Amino acid sequence: MDYLLPELTPYEAAIYIYLLRNSFVKNGVSGVRAGKRTIGCGIGSRGAKTSYTQVAKVLKKLEEKGCIKVGDTNRNGTLYIVSLPKDIPLVTGKIESLLHQDMEEDYFNDPDKRREVFERDKWVCKYCGEKLLPENVTLDHFTPQSKGGKHSKENLKTCCLLCNGIKSGKTYEEATPFLLKSIQERRARLHK
Ligand SMILES: [Zn+2]
Repeated sequence: MDYLLPELTPYEAAIYIYLLRNSFVKNGVSGVRAGKRTIGCGIGSRGAKTSYTQVAKVLKKLEEKGCIKVGDTNRNGTLYIVSLPKDIPLVTGKIESLLHQDMEEDYFNDPDKRREVFERDKWVCKYCGEKLLPENVTLDHFTPQSKGGKHSKENLKTCCLLCNGIKSGKTYEEATPFLLKSIQERRARLHK
């Protein structure tokens, strides 16, 4: 419902809710038979009249948006089959795209996205400059997660295991002296 209502005009929302109340909520079935005048009265708030043509127009819109299906008409009114929000394409599409958006933001857990970051950094540790392989490459949160750092592409840096262990949980500023010390020690060992 939270996803559907923003997509509807106030009129559409009012009629949709009215039909929903008189189908699923009241009778537990998807169908409701009602005349357009009845609907007009049903949604009318304190004397405000909703005209027959207005109701007809809005019902057509609701059908176009996949919220209802219009069935046959008899003398008791027209049959409206009401779709629940979760079954309305407008809503499922929106949820889908929201999920997708979240996925796109997560460069830490998605293997393909991780690779994108490694490629961007040319498989080189951002801190010590060591060339890395898929077997020993890691991702560092530049701003640590504990300080609100996100799994975003901008916040993730290609990192070697050693530097990541040192940097872990620290801001770059805090970690710099330790990183530098470790890098110098590694260099010294190499040149022995
Ligand atoms: Zn490193």
